[in-house]
Amino acid sequence: MKLALGNISLTLLMLFAVNIAAAESDVDQLCNKIGAKLSSVSAKECRQLKFDPPRYYSVNGLPLLEKHYAADKSRKYAPKILFIGGIHGDEYSSVSVTFKWLKTLDKHHSGAYDWHFVPLANPDGLLKKKSSRVNARAIDLNRNFKTAADGVTAIEYWRDQAKRRPRYFPGEQPLSEPESSAIHQLIAELQPTVIISVHAPHGILDFDGAVRPPQSLGPLSLRLLGTYPGSLGNYGYHLKSIPVMTIELEHAGIMPKKKDISAMWMDLVRWIKIKTKSKEIVALLDR
Ligand SMILES: [Zn+2]
Repeated sequence: MKLALGNISLTLLMLFAVNIAAAESDVDQLCNKIGAKLSSVSAKECRQLKFDPPRYYSVNGLPLLEKHYAADKSRKYAPKILFIGGIHGDEYSSVSVTFKWLKTLDKHHSGAYDWHFVPLANPDGLLKKKSSRVNARAIDLNRNFKTAADGVTAIEYWRDQAKRRPRYFPGEQPLSEPESSAIHQLIAELQPTVIISVHAPHGILDFDGAVRPPQSLGPLSLRLLGTYPGSLGNYGYHLKSIPVMTIELEHAGIMPKKKDISAMWMDLVRWIKIKTKSKEIVALLDR
């Protein structure tokens, strides 16, 4: 009798546990994993951001976190900013700093701009035991975008000019990966005025676009590196005429100082504000 009762309570306990697991959303589960992996982002901090219901998933079935902050409808011109962190899974700071900025925006969103955040574009790469630049199928997502029809393809460039380094493998075909396809679809849907992508560890600000870039963001000075076939910068600027700002933080595994994190954000918002009033960005908004 005692044994039977024991079994019943064990079964009940298990049912209870299954229910709890079911109640925890995909996003909450991912937040827990991010919190366990990154020392600068806690699971609670991630959950508190209340991400939008997921629409896109990684190769391993993890949601691609998205958060949209709409501009006030009354505004005639509101720049739309697509903000991407962690397209390279081993650049921890690019995810952590994007989360910090997202938290700032969450508190202070004014409605002057339309923001769309994807703070972790390569969750599989980040969450591997040993985090990797590439995704779960060993593809560099930042080389997996479309290239111009009359130009060198990403795979040709990788074979002939990039020494076939595995870390930069672009895949046999553009958009072969769900993560790059998701960003491609987001660009088509949002028609962003500017795309901002966060990386590490070059410690500079890079820019591809016909608009005059900021000369610096906090401690990062502008240095134009040029683009590679299949990269987001190449696709955004050369195929879609959308300026792409690439923020290269100084260290992949060490956070910038708090004051630099806020200085970079202030400089970024100031630049967007100035551009909003200038003819060049109004022309872009009018497209
Ligand atoms: Zn990178």
